[in-house]
Amino acid sequence: MTTEPSKAPPLYPKTHLLAASGIAALLSLALLVFPSSDVEAKRTSLSLDLESPVEQLTQDQDASDAQQATNAPTESPFAQIESTPEDTQQATQEAPAAKNPQHREVIVAKGDTLSTLFEKVGLPAATVNEVLASDKQAKQFTQLKHGQKLEFELTPDGQLNNLHSSVSDLETITLTKGAKGFAFNRVTTKPVMRSAYVHGVINSSLSQSAARAGLSHSMTMDMASVFGYDIDFAQDIRQGDEFDVIYEQKVANGKVVGTGNILSARFTNRGKTYTAVRYTNKQGNSSYYTADGNSMRKAFIRTPVDFARISSRFSMGRKHPILNKIRAHKGVDYAAPRGTPIKAAGDGKVLLAGRRGGYGNTVIIQHGNTYRTLYGHMQGFAKGVSTGSNVKQGQVIGYIGTTGLSTGPHLHYEFQVNGVHVDPLGQKLPMADPIAKAERARFLQQSQPLMARMDQERSTLLASAKR
Ligand SMILES: [Zn+2]
Repeated sequence: MTTEPSKAPPLYPKTHLLAASGIAALLSLALLVFPSSDVEAKRTSLSLDLESPVEQLTQDQDASDAQQATNAPTESPFAQIESTPEDTQQATQEAPAAKNPQHREVIVAKGDTLSTLFEKVGLPAATVNEVLASDKQAKQFTQLKHGQKLEFELTPDGQLNNLHSSVSDLETITLTKGAKGFAFNRVTTKPVMRSAYVHGVINSSLSQSAARAGLSHSMTMDMASVFGYDIDFAQDIRQGDEFDVIYEQKVANGKVVGTGNILSARFTNRGKTYTAVRYTNKQGNSSYYTADGNSMRKAFIRTPVDFARISSRFSMGRKHPILNKIRAHKGVDYAAPRGTPIKAAGDGKVLLAGRRGGYGNTVIIQHGNTYRTLYGHMQGFAKGVSTGSNVKQGQVIGYIGTTGLSTGPHLHYEFQVNGVHVDPLGQKLPMADPIAKAERARFLQQSQPLMARMDQERSTLLASAKR
């Protein structure tokens, strides 16, 4: 326990975002390191429906890679999607286009206005006015984009009955004639989530090889940050490194409209293979673990003292035992016998190893640009730990004591993210907790099929490439 003169505002930052952006910044650099030379990444996108994992579908749109996918089934990969209940429910009214004279389609070209388009299907200018006057939102039909398709349904005598158009992959707007003129309606399609597989071999840079393999830039960044604690993407990437990724793909109306999370990934760097599986625990927190359930995140060890008891938790207001005033306790206290070793939570540089007011003997360590840890009330410092020295994660930096404003032997431990105190016991710090025992079975139930699928898909792919 400590008098904390901190005036920092009581903010809880989105620490994992900060951590992620720090890594992302490093990676942006790393991704640019390799010059463009010849890139050969084998590309496949075998989309698999989450509910029916046996179905293998290709949705390769890249002509140059098409030959690599020739062994995959050729029918529409989205045949099944189009018949899912979600889709039927939200399907737009696609009239049988071709030979129905009452159904007309026009594609917006340069210079087109709603009037010229109406003219093309034989509707008078008066109808345009009637349409626009019918509903405030009908104006949206005037915000035309080049290439946009407008579909008209006409009555047998050539009057407008219905007009609709897709304004994006997920949005359709419609005007329908009713008793009181035209009624506007917007239908938003909720994309269906599928999973897709991608495999890449690095021949130049990670970003180029990943792009070749069909992985978006943001997915590539995600993958790099998932493995960011194990692989130094700035220095360690080599030609011949390989990766497999199963990721979420958002599909609407038979079209890929976006991506979601990486579900599992494997990265072979210089002959060593790392695995990652995304798991959402029962509390709803998602994180990446190795296939055997260890956390991918190793930036910090959670507890700097082994065999200690938490005697006071992080709080924004509590009664200080010595000052007898309400004070924030911006750290965690670990009670342990005098002389118990205290470990550095992560690699870093010692900013201070010395006295600091109520903290007594204190070590402050800076970890990269973002993180800082503080260890107070120490009895003394470990050999070699002094202001300006570097320490490794887990290295003993000092020993439990009760120096400074303290009621008994304990460690006062603080964690800062960009200068703001956060709870070191909070869920969102990049800590190294493995899967909880109680969730292990559930985790394996999810991770094992994902790992098996990456094996199976890679061998299918490699076999087809050899033929
Ligand atoms: Zn304390």
